[in-house]
Amino acid sequence: MNANVVEADVWPVSHSGGEKSISDDDLCSECAHCSYRPGEMSGCEKNWPGLENNDYYVVSCQMFQEK
Ligand code: SF4
Repeated sequence: MNANVVEADVWPVSHSGGEKSISDDDLCSECAHCSYRPGEMSGCEKNWPGLENNDYYVVSCQMFQEK
């Protein structure tokens, strides 16, 4: 019943000065545009076009590019 609303509650990525804490649970950790630094603040060279969920994890992004 709810298979099609999984991504319903998402919002533009919240970041601070262009940086965001990214973990393995974020889509960005697999993205070529992310300067992924686990445990530190990471950057997105596309200025975070993704969407994040209630838990602040990035779950979808039109500009995602696999590394
Ligand atoms: S392009 Fe999208 S998926 Fe890639 S790092 Fe930026 S926000 Fe994350």
